[in-house]
Amino acid sequence: MTQKKKDIREKFEVLTPQGYEHGDKPMKMKFTKRTSCIRCGTCCRTNPPTLLKPDIAALVAGTLTPETLVVIRDGERVPAVSEKEIYEAPFEMIMIRGRDGSAVCRFLSGENVCEIHENRPVQCRAYTCFGPQATVTGLEANRLTRRDIFAEVPVILDLIERHNEKCSYRALGTALAKVADGDEAALEEVFDMLQYDTEARPFLLEKLGLTGDVLSLVLGKPMNETISLFGYRVDREGDDYIIRPLETKEGR
Ligand code: SF4
Ligand code: SF4
Repeated sequence: MTQKKKDIREKFEVLTPQGYEHGDKPMKMKFTKRTSCIRCGTCCRTNPPTLLKPDIAALVAGTLTPETLVVIRDGERVPAVSEKEIYEAPFEMIMIRGRDGSAVCRFLSGENVCEIHENRPVQCRAYTCFGPQATVTGLEANRLTRRDIFAEVPVILDLIERHNEKCSYRALGTALAKVADGDEAALEEVFDMLQYDTEARPFLLEKLGLTGDVLSLVLGKPMNETISLFGYRVDREGDDYIIRPLETKEGR
């Protein structure tokens, strides 16, 4: 070792995970590149797949049922699990529902086994964490929609259409922005949307004999819950509903 190098070593310690080879050379860093799926299940715990048109076959076969799915409506705000951010859905998408409200796919069981492996969705087949991603291009055109699933049930399609007209997330976002500026008329609009969304649910259950689990696909998650991702919460006090900004401590 030259004198100059020795001086530098005295000032700065060069650390590598492996330490030093014999003599004074830092060991070469070693990386292992994964080349195949090791079935760790990470992707199934963090990122439920969006269904594409070919996945309708799994619904026809009964592998996927309406109860196992949830619709993310156009303009709905969704937490991005890995990024700890919120994103706005650019269009309607249908996803597999997480287990017990979590991001873990309901079909992941035991030792990281996919219960529907043979009929798993297109996105699950295409995903690899270790190589070039098979990009799903044209998601907007290729995504499965409620219109595809309920094509033979016009009464449900009509209800979905009406629900979208009466309480769209785009309209909710616009109205809440006005509420933040003190617009009382906009607050009425928000109440109307929440009321319609709340009342449409028991109506569907009663009139069409649907089960509660299907509502997540037919109408999506209740707006009085998803409003939290817009920065507000809804509290019930007797027969009244109160909307409060999330950061307001008052009344908690
Ligand atoms: S694709 Fe990657 S993250 Fe998913 S199970 Fe296989 S190794 Fe794990
Ligand atoms: S369907 Fe199977 S492969 Fe796809 S996320 Fe769920 S457990 Fe994983």
